[in-house]
Amino acid sequence: MGEKNELFVSYMERLIRLTHIEPFDRESYKELIIEICDTYKLSKGAIEFYNTPHMEQLGKGEVFCDFDSGKDSTILLRIRIESSTKAVIIGTLYTTNDFEDYTNEELTELDTMLRIIIGFVSRKRILRMLENFGFYDIDGYRNFRSFVRYLDFANAENRLGGMVAFHIDLHNFTMVNQEVGRDNGDIVLKKYYDLLTETIGDKGIIARLGGDKFIGVLNRSIKRQVFDLFSGTTISINEASDQKIYISAATGVFMIPNPFMLMTYGDIMDKIMLAGMTAKRQSKGSIIVYDEKMKKAQSHVKKVQTEFREALKNEEFRVYYQPKVDIETKKLKGSEALCRWIKDKTIIPPNDFIPILEMNTDICQLDFYMLDHVCKDIRRWLDEGREVVRVSVNFSRKHLIDVNVLEKIIATIDKNNVPHEYIEIELTETTTDVLFSDLRRVVCGLQEQGIKTAVDDFGVGYSSLNLIRDLPWNVLKIDKSFVPKNIEEEESIQNKMFKHVISLAHDLGLECVIEGVETLDQLEVLRKNNCNIAQGYFFDKPLPLEDYENRLDERFYSMPY
Ligand code: C2E
Ligand code: MG
Ligand code: MG
Repeated sequence: MGEKNELFVSYMERLIRLTHIEPFDRESYKELIIEICDTYKLSKGAIEFYNTPHMEQLGKGEVFCDFDSGKDSTILLRIRIESSTKAVIIGTLYTTNDFEDYTNEELTELDTMLRIIIGFVSRKRILRMLENFGFYDIDGYRNFRSFVRYLDFANAENRLGGMVAFHIDLHNFTMVNQEVGRDNGDIVLKKYYDLLTETIGDKGIIARLGGDKFIGVLNRSIKRQVFDLFSGTTISINEASDQKIYISAATGVFMIPNPFMLMTYGDIMDKIMLAGMTAKRQSKGSIIVYDEKMKKAQSHVKKVQTEFREALKNEEFRVYYQPKVDIETKKLKGSEALCRWIKDKTIIPPNDFIPILEMNTDICQLDFYMLDHVCKDIRRWLDEGREVVRVSVNFSRKHLIDVNVLEKIIATIDKNNVPHEYIEIELTETTTDVLFSDLRRVVCGLQEQGIKTAVDDFGVGYSSLNLIRDLPWNVLKIDKSFVPKNIEEEESIQNKMFKHVISLAHDLGLECVIEGVETLDQLEVLRKNNCNIAQGYFFDKPLPLEDYENRLDERFYSMPY
């Protein structure tokens, strides 16, 4: 008896030590459990864990079992605890002996030890839940915290240098969601992430930033395999169906130099985000590696964004007009308003600031400024008794989400007392269905008001014949890259496509304007294909106001052809 009591005291000492000391010594713990079970002739010990009593009834929970002799056994002792959060923890000890073989004292000892073990197991489980809670998001993806913790560890262990950091942004994931439904979209996204996680293994980490954007770092040794998956791979929704979704990402990369000491997370984040933005602007599956030039580009972006409001107030933006010419009669048919930023006596071209203004909704202010100035010019020309031609104004796609854009356009034109027939709005094509329905609303609304609409840059990007067929456009502006270079090769695909698009547009009653006409050869191609309106350097560059007014008055071009 005294011997047994001493044993119990020593078991308790060891048990308390093992369950309270980090790191947890699993081997010694298991040895101790086996010893205890042997002393007390137990055949099995188990701890069950249920989130709620209801889950307990359903038998849906977790079971931890550190000893199981595999022999048939009966329950000797069972402790059930319901926590204040309604979680249920049950500890059970089994024996092959009879209950009567145990003294009350032995049962009390077993009860005490079992309670310690229950406490220990639930504490461990709560820690794991907390870990999951802090480092995984609700859908089971590693989160940003996971990523920075990894950076911290890798940095402390001096192994960040030489690793590869990345930011990926999946292409057209909204379209995938529309195509297969949101639930299936979620499945595809998770499968893609799981595939990446598995491929990276213990050689790095990938975490979700939100939506379809992820970040991570990895060892150079697995860069190739992982980057192949970024460039593009197919994921099946489920094993039963053979529907496969192609996933690719815009990838921004920072090759971490070696040696490298991490001072702030921004040292890595800024670079992968910047390279990622550049990748996003390029073709699908692009992988762009950060370099110092991007930093310059970044400071240009900041400069434009901060100076824009003041520049708008100071009227630093000017309207240039580029004529559109009827190539048969050589008569001026219309013009396009193109924006120039005159700053410190230099002219900044739109490609240097429009894409930046399009990063937020600043572009919308600029477009309305342009429309307002065009209307003012037209009003003045009319008042001066000049013969006026229609002017087209570019409107960014960013306007489509503004439910009042239509009313605002009409109000701007009417405020300046300009007949609607003199205004045309150029819009570029759009891919997503959501935007498409907004586009329909705007195009149909303008049509009802007698304001003309044009599809800009047809032939670059996602040209869709549905887009021109389903909406009541007036004008199709065909990009110069779509015009065949070689008139001789009548059978070339480019020639055929060009011919068919032109005849389709004409069948639909659309006016065709070809942009970027620079040479007489190109003009020949247009004539052969019955395109009658051209805009390009061959006739005029975008002209400042005064030069354009001279053109308005001259009316005809004196080209030698
Ligand atoms: P866009 O609307 O497609 O305008 C046509 C562009 O082609 C203009 O460039 C024009 O100068 C250029 N171009 C015309 N003829 C020729 C030619 O023969 N050869 C070549 N190589 N190019 C020619 P620009 O003025 O630099 O404008 C670039 C783009 O910036 C425009 O493309 C338009 O998308 C955008 N943009 C310009 N002004 C505005 C504006 O007020 N609002 C908005 N939202 N976008 C604007
Ligand atoms: Mg345009
Ligand atoms: Mg264009």
